[in-house]
Amino acid sequence: MTATRPARFPDDVVGTYRDAGLWGRRTIAEEFHAVAVAHPDHDAVVAAEGRLTYAELDARTDRLAVGLADLGLEPGDPVIVQVTNRLETVVAWYALLKAGLVPVATLAAHRGHEIAHISRAVGARAHLVEADTRGADLVAFAHDQARDHPTMRHVLVLGDLPAAELDPDAARERVAGIQRGIDPDDVAVFQLSGGTTGVPKLIPRLHAEYWYNARAYAAVLGWTAADRVGHLIPIVHNAGIVCGVHAPHSVGATLVLTDHDLDTAMPLLVAEGTTSVLFGHVHYRAPAHPHYDELAATLRVVLLSGAKVSEELFAATGRGGARVGQLFGMAEGMFLVTPLDASPELRRTTVGVPISPLDEIRVLEPGTEEEVPDGEVGELCCRGPYTLRGYFGEDRPQAFTSEGFYRTGDLAAVRLLDGHRALSVEGRIKDLINRGGEKINAEEVELLLLSHPRVVEVALVAMPDPRLGERGCAFVVGDGAPLTLDDVREHLRALDVAKYKWPERVEVVPSLARTKVGKLDKKAMAAEITETLRSEGVVP
Ligand code: AMP
Repeated sequence: MTATRPARFPDDVVGTYRDAGLWGRRTIAEEFHAVAVAHPDHDAVVAAEGRLTYAELDARTDRLAVGLADLGLEPGDPVIVQVTNRLETVVAWYALLKAGLVPVATLAAHRGHEIAHISRAVGARAHLVEADTRGADLVAFAHDQARDHPTMRHVLVLGDLPAAELDPDAARERVAGIQRGIDPDDVAVFQLSGGTTGVPKLIPRLHAEYWYNARAYAAVLGWTAADRVGHLIPIVHNAGIVCGVHAPHSVGATLVLTDHDLDTAMPLLVAEGTTSVLFGHVHYRAPAHPHYDELAATLRVVLLSGAKVSEELFAATGRGGARVGQLFGMAEGMFLVTPLDASPELRRTTVGVPISPLDEIRVLEPGTEEEVPDGEVGELCCRGPYTLRGYFGEDRPQAFTSEGFYRTGDLAAVRLLDGHRALSVEGRIKDLINRGGEKINAEEVELLLLSHPRVVEVALVAMPDPRLGERGCAFVVGDGAPLTLDDVREHLRALDVAKYKWPERVEVVPSLARTKVGKLDKKAMAAEITETLRSEGVVP
């Protein structure tokens, strides 16, 4: 096992979660196999490239897992996964897990700056990429990254994984043997944190709790094997894996996997009779799409996630009769979902309630362990059967309370409505930009920009954007010589930084706004750029 153990859930707590029937005793691969055996002829996944039943996906991934093991990859070896929403991505996901490997969820958009750091931090042994992605040769990139890498051994290409030449029973026996050696409380997957400090933090997700996260989500949405679950947002991300892959597969349902473009997604979602879908902020315009009425006819449950939802949007999304709610979730764990019986007020003013009966919420005065009264705004802190107890490889006590509650950096308030203790989201204290669901860590980008020879001071702030929600605007104090957006972006390109993090506007200013006590005043800068965008007619 290459991956070292993360901060663990205390033994008595694990006992409570197991006794309550929340944590199982199987690995994710074996949980999937059990469901596949129960629903062999159901579609497990449908995508533009084709479809696979549970039996087909199970048998295929057994042979691929053995092929991966025969390459010399061993249980516990981390594998960087850098792919998009393809049928083969789901195949590769289970093949890796069945080989006992630990997928490290990164974005196809990540570049050397991100991947070099992440893959060294986890001691990655392989790098799975997709050939022919738009705008980047990820295969060449992976080979380039592997050079001088202390642990990297294999570049794997989606759709071209080695399959063992074994009959299905022999492959199954090999996989079962690998899985018997894995503790369900070990790390199954690494997810990346949006993070609040300069480098992305790695979140260890354990077999038992990660599968439970998905089961609990499927349960609150009332999914059964008859459901056909559409997914448009990046699949190898926490929301993708939990809501799009594991949750439908935990009940024998079908994943209808599309890319993010509504024009290509909508016909597939309609043709497949999609019953449930999760729309991120970039898809809030889906109800205006010409095919939406056809889709709405089969939709039963829709979740919206990423930004506040107006009553008009709820009505437009649910016009075919679907129940529409909100999802507030994070790669660190905690999921809040609108209860299916919610009143219009509850679903509009809150993001709902935790999905597990053993989830615990505290709303604390930021930086303290003092709870604020119900109705008042404080930092959302949480603990429970699928929320992390520590990041991988680093001690970050400031991210947790003394009782192990994770400090989310989000601001929230408890609202008592219809007998529920629901949570309303009131902003955040963590310094990040939520660009259409991708989180940009302001400090990380600021440090990179400061290495530009003409940048003296810089602050990256969120500016509103009608489609993505937020984009990054850099307020820069220069050395007097002209400094343009192109200069700044060229600098980040040279540092091989993922493009979604590049500022999309630069405001050169004589000095950065500061509060009376001399701290950077990002609120004032954000207000200033919002006003400018309004005057330019970019936002209402
Ligand atoms: P990630 O770990 O990338 O899923 O990001 C988690 C963070 O996204 C949360 O801590 C929130 O700051 C933000 N977030 C998640 N869901 C919502 C939502 N429904 N509305 C607003 N922000 C959200």
